[in-house]
Amino acid sequence: MLPFIRSDLAKLTAYTHPGGNAGKPVTATAVDRLDTNESPDDLPSEVKEKLAWTYQQLIETNRYPDGGHEALKSAIAEYVNESLQDAWITPANISVGNGSDELIRSLLIATCLGGVGSILVANPTFSMYGILAQTLGIPVVTVGRSPAFEIGVAAAQLAIEQTEDPPIRVVFVVHPNSPTGNALTTSELTWLRSLPKQILVVIDEAYFEFSQTTVVSELLQRPNWIVLRTFSKAFRLAAHRVGYAIAIPELIKVLEKIRLPYNLTTFSQVAALVALQQRTLLLGSIPQLLTERAKLSHALGLHPALQVYNSAANFIYLRLKDTDCQEESNYLSSLNQQLRASGTLVRQINGGLRITVGSQEENLRTLQRLQAALDKMGK
Ligand SMILES: *Cc1c(COP(=O)(O)O)cnc(C)c1O
Repeated sequence: MLPFIRSDLAKLTAYTHPGGNAGKPVTATAVDRLDTNESPDDLPSEVKEKLAWTYQQLIETNRYPDGGHEALKSAIAEYVNESLQDAWITPANISVGNGSDELIRSLLIATCLGGVGSILVANPTFSMYGILAQTLGIPVVTVGRSPAFEIGVAAAQLAIEQTEDPPIRVVFVVHPNSPTGNALTTSELTWLRSLPKQILVVIDEAYFEFSQTTVVSELLQRPNWIVLRTFSKAFRLAAHRVGYAIAIPELIKVLEKIRLPYNLTTFSQVAALVALQQRTLLLGSIPQLLTERAKLSHALGLHPALQVYNSAANFIYLRLKDTDCQEESNYLSSLNQQLRASGTLVRQINGGLRITVGSQEENLRTLQRLQAALDKMGK
C-alpha cells in the first residue's frame, strides 16, 4: 500500500464488470450478456443516424458541454410529468449525473461524508450504494429481507434508533428491487413515509419503465425523499452514462453544487435528448419484453429444482430449492460457470441467479442452457 493512501481503502477492490468484460475491447462476441440488465436492443439505426448527424453538424468538439444541462433537464421534466396527474415537475426539480452512480456518490457526499452519517440498506439489493459508501469511508448498516424480499422494517427501524456514531442519515431502496425484482409494498412505503425529516430516503427507480410504478407524485410533500432514474436500462443508453434525480429544488441545488462542472459529455446529453424525443419508439418494445419475461419466468418455474420469484423489472431472480446453504452456493457457482461456458452470462448474487430478460432467441438459449446444466448436475 502506498504510504499516502487512506488505509481503509486497502481492503477494497475495484468494481469490475460482472461479466468479466471490463477493460476488454468491445467486439461483437457470440455471448448472451444477461448479467447487467441492459436492454437487448441497440438504438434503431435511424436514431443512431440522427445522433451521428447531430454530431457532424451541430456539435463543436472544441467547446465545453452545456454544464447546466438545460435542454436535457427540460426534456426530462416533460417526460416525468407524463406519469403525473398535475405535471408539477420543472427543470429545478432535476439534476443530471454521469449515470445514477454519480448521483449516488453525490448524495453520499452531501449527507454522510466526514464521519457525520451512516447509510442503511436491506440486502440483497443494488451493491453500488455500499461500494460507493465504503470508498468515502461511510459506514454501511445492513438489515435483511423476508422470504418474499420485503425489507425487514422492524430491524431497519431498530437500526435507525440504535445507530449512533455516526447516525443513519440515508436509507437506500430500489423500486423494484435489484436483484430480486419486487416493487415496494404498501407497508414498506408506509414505513418510508414515517421516517423523520433528518433522514434522506433515496428511491432508485432504475426499472420504472418496466414496472410503471413510481413515487414521484409524493415528492412535493416529502422534502426528505429523492427519486433516481437512469437512461441505462429501458432507454438503451448504457454506453452513454446518463442518470437523473428528481426532488424538491432545495435538495437539487445541493446536488448541483457537488457534481463536477462538466459531468456529462455533449454527446451523451444529445443522446439522452434524442432518446427522449424518440421515446414512443424506444419504449414501444417494452410490452414485448414483458411478454418474454412472463414466458421465461413460467418456463423456469416449471423446473422442480428452481424457485423463481415474480419480477416487476427486466430480469428474473431465482434460487435453488431444497439445498442447504453450503451446497447451494457450490451448486450455484457450478451452474453459473456452466452457463458461462455455454455462452450465457448471468449474475450470481446473494445465493441466487439474476438473469436479464433478453431477446426471444437469447431467452430460448437461456432455458436450454440452464436445463442442460441442471441435467448435468443431476438436478
Ligand atoms: C442499473 C441500475 C442503475 C443504473 O446505474 P447507471 O449508473 O445510471 O448506469 C441504478 N440503480 C440500479 C438499482 C440499477 O440496477
